[in-house]
Amino acid sequence: MSQLKYKRVILKVSGEALAGSEGRGINPEVIAHLAMEVKKIHDMGVQIGIVCGGGNMWRGETGANLGMERAQADYMGMLATIMNGLALQDALENLGVPTRVQTSIEMRQIAEPYIRRKAIRHLEKGRVVIFGGGTGNPYFSTDTTAALRAAEINADVILMAKNGVDGVYSADPKIYPEAVKFDELTQLDIIAKDLKVMDRTASSLSMDNNIPLIVFNVNEAGNIKKVIEGENIGTVIKG
Ligand code: UDP
Repeated sequence: MSQLKYKRVILKVSGEALAGSEGRGINPEVIAHLAMEVKKIHDMGVQIGIVCGGGNMWRGETGANLGMERAQADYMGMLATIMNGLALQDALENLGVPTRVQTSIEMRQIAEPYIRRKAIRHLEKGRVVIFGGGTGNPYFSTDTTAALRAAEINADVILMAKNGVDGVYSADPKIYPEAVKFDELTQLDIIAKDLKVMDRTASSLSMDNNIPLIVFNVNEAGNIKKVIEGENIGTVIKG
């Protein structure tokens, strides 16, 4: 049996990571690939909580820029994360992975409400728990949700699944080919260097609670498994 470096994880999947190259909507092949990757570590006995983003459908900031009231636009964003969560649940269940969706905003007909103790119980029973709806509050992000849920469920690590980017770089490698990749950073480096990894609220929450973060490319098959086995394939950010 392979070595598990991390036994309970929060996997943060941005909306973009579900969209494929179009950048919008949900791409069925991409979501099936992601589900297969999750299944691999589920089969190894890892307890998995997933926080879904919503940027592939809607961001509160976009609405605010169009003149909408920010909180209203943010609630729309939270609903987008729940749609992604349901799609991911469907893809995981197609592979026979037992899954529960818990939402921070109650939607009893389609998902359970978020109840921390119940989420932990599901994890212990080997069910993947998908956390939808972000924190349930406007002005926050799903990165902050990942840090919050990771602290609440006592996760060993937050896995930041990136779409085609294999870690944190000194500058955007798509624009600046000379940008260098960091193997290891601290949350203070992220804040001080203003690196685009997660927003400041999420960074400080992770730092205050000593939760490490690993940024890695989820597009390559086997990468989540490699991270779980402790292989250094992305950027590790110490809490
Ligand atoms: N959102 C929010 N509160 C939260 C989490 C998310 O208001 O606690 C809204 C916010 O409008 C955000 C949108 O949901 O723009 C989608 O989430 P996010 O931008 O974090 O998704 P990602 O970038 O990971 O796809």
